[in-house]
Amino acid sequence: MAVTLRDYEDVVGPEVIEEIRLIAGYVRHKSLQNVNSTSVGGGVAEILTRMIPLLRELGVIASWDVIKGNEAFYSVTKAFHNALHGNQEKITEKMLDIYLENTAMNLRDMNLTGDVIMIHDPQPVGLILRKPEIGRQWIWRCHIDVSKPDPVAWNFLKPYVGRYDAAIFSMPDFAQKLPIPQYRVAPSIDPLSDKNKELDPGYVQQVLEQYGLNPERPILTQISRFDRLKDPLGVIHAYQLVKKHCDCQLILAGGGADDDPEGKEVLREVEEAAANDPDIHILLLPPFSDLEINALVRGSTIIFQKSIREGFGLTVSEALWKGKPVIGGSVGGIKLQIINGVTGFLVHSPEGAANRAVELLSDPDLCRKLGENGHCQVKENFLITRHVKDYMLLMLALDYPAERVIQLTASRNS
Ligand code: UDP
Repeated sequence: MAVTLRDYEDVVGPEVIEEIRLIAGYVRHKSLQNVNSTSVGGGVAEILTRMIPLLRELGVIASWDVIKGNEAFYSVTKAFHNALHGNQEKITEKMLDIYLENTAMNLRDMNLTGDVIMIHDPQPVGLILRKPEIGRQWIWRCHIDVSKPDPVAWNFLKPYVGRYDAAIFSMPDFAQKLPIPQYRVAPSIDPLSDKNKELDPGYVQQVLEQYGLNPERPILTQISRFDRLKDPLGVIHAYQLVKKHCDCQLILAGGGADDDPEGKEVLREVEEAAANDPDIHILLLPPFSDLEINALVRGSTIIFQKSIREGFGLTVSEALWKGKPVIGGSVGGIKLQIINGVTGFLVHSPEGAANRAVELLSDPDLCRKLGENGHCQVKENFLITRHVKDYMLLMLALDYPAERVIQLTASRNS
């Protein structure tokens, strides 16, 4: 049965839902068109899949379109993605040309009709060139950590971004010098989705066994695309250090994303590093494995998100919501979710991750306490109900420019 807004009353309380309905009264019948670069894989697709039906139920005419691009384009945008995260990448003139060619194709072929057009991330940012012709209100929604971008990549994108009516970043650290208003809105998870809803313990056990895990032994898990910025090799290193002190199994579960061409190569590196250790389980999950991922996380003892750079890292909130202690890289949006020592541990190296994992494996009470705190932290700050409210408030703010200072509730914890 489809989830409706009323179902969230049991999670966040009826007052929150009433407030959302009230705000919806002001933006109802406006259309909000989202554009990104993939319909499957990664956090943006995850959020949009859950958000569009809720907005529609509230009367907002929400839609979601995906740009087209060839393989060369996605190689270029992946390099951009890494460079904007501050990674060393060589951005060449040829790459910029490929980006411009694909942008021109999308400008020609895409139907841009929303009253508000929300463009997600750098891949479709050039669609703003259509603005002089069709008007509309344009928002650039950046999901990546652009606090220290590579200057070549950022200087290329900046003139596009500067033409938008507003930009949204996930946390204040990511704000940039731009001639447009900037808002901070943190991402969110859906507590009622297959990925996050409560599961029968029997099903959790069944999934673990199906993937060759022993539910009686400790399990360390990272759920992530096979991407160097997620540091899967660092996770294997940490697991190997933990293994010297404690018995444990490791799950590295990840699928691909259509807009991420690097995945296959990173997977090869991961398989090589795992070196046939029977306790390392590399799971290649097809899209729509949400129930299985939910079960794998619920059946785990500790969740890693040992990213080297991270825009937000939905996987952190997904795990905290399930009451799991999370060990995360001390970067980007992970720092928004993990309060060190309260909802999990922030680490700077595989050695740090291993130390914390050993500490947690020997202290189940600490695991439980961090998990309980983490659940509350997500409930207060990172659920889809807050996110829907923020987007509607932003649509309102665009109509009332004098209200630019509107206090979005996204960062109550900052
Ligand atoms: N995910 C998934 N299958 C996988 C790997 C990841 O469904 O094999 C999901 C994960 O649960 C999360 C999203 O994809 O909801 C990843 O979002 P996140 O913000 O953690 O990272 P991104 O991939 O956007 O960098």
